[in-house]
Amino acid sequence: MKLQVLASGSGGNSTLVRAGETNVLVDAGLTVAGMEERLDAARFAPPGLDHVFVTHGHLDHARAAGAIARKARCTLHCTEGLMRNAAIRRSKNLAALPVGAPYRVVGRRGADTVEVTSVALPHDAVPTLAFKLEHLGRRVVILTDMGHPRVEVARALADAHVLVLEFNHDVGMLEAGPYPATLKRRILGNAGHLSNAQAATMLTALASEHLHTLVLAHLSETNNTRELALEAAHTTLERLGIAQRVRVLVAEQDRIGESLEV
Ligand SMILES: [Zn+2]
Ligand SMILES: [Zn+2]
Repeated sequence: MKLQVLASGSGGNSTLVRAGETNVLVDAGLTVAGMEERLDAARFAPPGLDHVFVTHGHLDHARAAGAIARKARCTLHCTEGLMRNAAIRRSKNLAALPVGAPYRVVGRRGADTVEVTSVALPHDAVPTLAFKLEHLGRRVVILTDMGHPRVEVARALADAHVLVLEFNHDVGMLEAGPYPATLKRRILGNAGHLSNAQAATMLTALASEHLHTLVLAHLSETNNTRELALEAAHTTLERLGIAQRVRVLVAEQDRIGESLEV
């Protein structure tokens, strides 16, 4: 299985997961043209997509999801409530995702089953999901847009080999920064985004003996820096005694990441 972040941040999020013959896109938050450009940069032709999964209805995740699924003639999977969303409804082929229940998808020729685990996150679009995708015993977890750490979420998403985790903001930078007070309260609130410190708490709960790559995601361009997020991640990995074997990368807004072998 391979994972490649195509875009990450409040300007749009998307991750491509290739599991044998089964190709899955998690979120498509850029414009259609933007998504096509990133897929092209990843040397991936959109008709090869089998499934699009959407975490939640915020535009930075859902914007092009329906349109891309429609163009690729593939299935868009989301919670029942999200099916009324205008961006989602553009897809002709929708499947309701039962949150927390076992869920399986396959490629067009019926091979390469991917097991999908979804778990609800505290965030101000309800429901917002995080996903674990498993193929042939290898597991990726994609977890962003979470208001505060929760042990039960970590339990449901345990044992990832590759973990994409939100490190949204530094609390000091956000508090001293230019955002209006209402927006600061939203981000800092229980249904906003994970600070670096909160992400470190989630990382502590999520890290297992299998973890080999950590991707820091959804960094705020205004309220965080790569250095602060990396420092929070490295300090945590060192405390856990696994800094030597876990590679740490930062997902970017403006270009695709490398294709990671899971
Ligand atoms: Zn987001
Ligand atoms: Zn969101």
